[in-house]
Amino acid sequence: MDLESIKNTFGISDFRGKQETIIKHILVGGNALVLMPTGMGKSLCYQIPAVSLPGVCIVISPLIALMKDQVTALQRKGVSAEFINSSLGKSERLERYSKLRSGDYKILYVSPERFQKKDFLDALSTQKISLLAIDEAHCISQWGHDFRPDYTKISWFREVLGYPTTIALTATASNRVQEDIVSQLGIPKEKIRIFDDGLFRPNLKLSVVDCFDTESKYNSIFEDLENSKGPSIIYFSLIQDLEKFSHWLDTRQKRHLVYHGKLSPEQRNKVQSLFLKSEETILLATNAFGMGIDKPNIRNIYHAQIPGSIESYYQEIGRAGRDGDPSFCKLYYCQEDLSVQMEFIEWQNPDGLYLKKLFGFLLLKENELSGLDYGTLQAYMTFKNRGDHRIQTALNLLANKGLISGDLERGTLQIEAPWSDSIFSESELLEKKKDSQKRLYQTLMYTKVIDCRRKFIHGYFDSSFDGCGNCDLCLTTP
Ligand code: ADP
Ligand code: MG
Repeated sequence: MDLESIKNTFGISDFRGKQETIIKHILVGGNALVLMPTGMGKSLCYQIPAVSLPGVCIVISPLIALMKDQVTALQRKGVSAEFINSSLGKSERLERYSKLRSGDYKILYVSPERFQKKDFLDALSTQKISLLAIDEAHCISQWGHDFRPDYTKISWFREVLGYPTTIALTATASNRVQEDIVSQLGIPKEKIRIFDDGLFRPNLKLSVVDCFDTESKYNSIFEDLENSKGPSIIYFSLIQDLEKFSHWLDTRQKRHLVYHGKLSPEQRNKVQSLFLKSEETILLATNAFGMGIDKPNIRNIYHAQIPGSIESYYQEIGRAGRDGDPSFCKLYYCQEDLSVQMEFIEWQNPDGLYLKKLFGFLLLKENELSGLDYGTLQAYMTFKNRGDHRIQTALNLLANKGLISGDLERGTLQIEAPWSDSIFSESELLEKKKDSQKRLYQTLMYTKVIDCRRKFIHGYFDSSFDGCGNCDLCLTTP
């Protein structure tokens, strides 16, 4: 197939940014690290080569929740794509393995854990691998904001797959993270090209509104909503604060939807599909909303509370204005909201004693782990605050060190190894906490910038800066 008819298959008339150069580079067997803003079109950079080259393209993605949507979208375009991850039942999984063996797939999405499964590797070994794509490649680096230990084995995956052409993609990677990605891939520097399409789409206007207190914040947001058009998302850090604002809007008869983790999956689906279809709707959401959302005409992304890092802020505002039309990303900063994030940092960073206590309890209950639930664990770990999420974080940390395996909610939790005080170093745990504090501090600095908001974010990601002209500061300075 020539490139023109492939463009038809994917329903696009022109390439964006460096897409075409990247695709041509991959088609002749070049390795690539692609840096491209969220929503600009990283996926096409591997999907188009995947359908053109003989064999199957393996896409490694950390986002199980998104695989299904991506695969469905591809299938609708007539591309034989599929995913295999832990959400499948046994018979479905086996069926997909056998289709993989018969060469039925052009694109296969998997999570990195899949490479631990022998039957997956067996099925793979029968196939020609056209391409290995690593999505969200910043997860490889422990200097990134979303480190996944499973991603550190990618050079081994490449070896298992017979060193296929490899493309790694991310929206954000500092120089340090870029270097780390390349070295973790195990590809010599001269054998991989870095394509940098910048950080921002120029149609996003960035601004910060300083608010004296919650009431003045509510009034500012309300006024901005009254003067704006199109779908809007207003992000909150805490569900209870979201609900307060929702009631406040109700008293002003301002219609809106809400989306957060306390709604049932059915309610969430309903809200999500209403919002996706809408031309005007206001949605109040926590960060539970947005992953994988690909709505082109979101005009406003307001943050009613300061987010915990520039990384998450950048990711959330990247959902605005994907159609290229003017869109507005406003952060309403109110000093009292800082404490919310500071508390989050406490919860996300349990200390060694906490981990030991939790593991001790699991050991004590070793024979009844399948019947254990969060409530019991929480009661034992005695919290003052019901919003405390340390248990989940602590379970993840125990699992990362190989002390436990399985899943509490599915009743498959198991002890794998004995405790030893040297497993967690206090200084490492402290380092991690300090890192979160630094990220929050940088976000605070973003609200205090005096020259240019884009320049600040580019500086944060060590990305080269080629002008802004579309932030509150650039637009007011003559
Ligand atoms: P991301 O860079 O965030 O991974 P995606 O690959 O998910 O972005 O693409 C975002 C949206 O942009 C998708 O709906 C995709 O179909 C669309 N898209 C990508 N490239 C183009 C293009 N050249 N022309 C038009 N739409 C495109
Ligand atoms: Mg993507």
